[in-house]
Amino acid sequence: MDNCVFCKIIDGSIPSNKVYEDDKMLAFHDIQPETPVHIVMIPKEHIASVDEVNAENSDVIAHIFSKAGEIAASVGLENGYRIVTNCGPDAGQTVFHIHFHLMGGKTLGKMV
Ligand code: AMP
Ligand code: ZN
Repeated sequence: MDNCVFCKIIDGSIPSNKVYEDDKMLAFHDIQPETPVHIVMIPKEHIASVDEVNAENSDVIAHIFSKAGEIAASVGLENGYRIVTNCGPDAGQTVFHIHFHLMGGKTLGKMV
């Protein structure tokens, strides 16, 4: 997808600090971390947001969640973590390639 920063990270034209990669997904450190550990997990397929997830493409979302615990452990999140997904303007989504923020490294406090 042209002009998608995360597609450019996937194709290597924008560098990233990767923590996990396979044929379906990539996980890398967020460039502006909001918590001591802040990883972004993305599918390699361009899906704009949760609104675009459907029966045909949802396998990759399940795949990301199947790897989240392993990724969290690999970056030292032994005491828990939070996964956040922003969808649309009210949630403050800024990159329209679906992604899951994997956040931790401190007590996060109640959010919901
Ligand atoms: P959101 O606001 O939920 O759309 O999240 C987008 C996230 O992508 C933000 O936390 C940004 O800091 C992060 N981000 C944007 N560009 C990059 C990049 N080149 N490398 C790593 N993280 C990025
Ligand atoms: Zn993309």
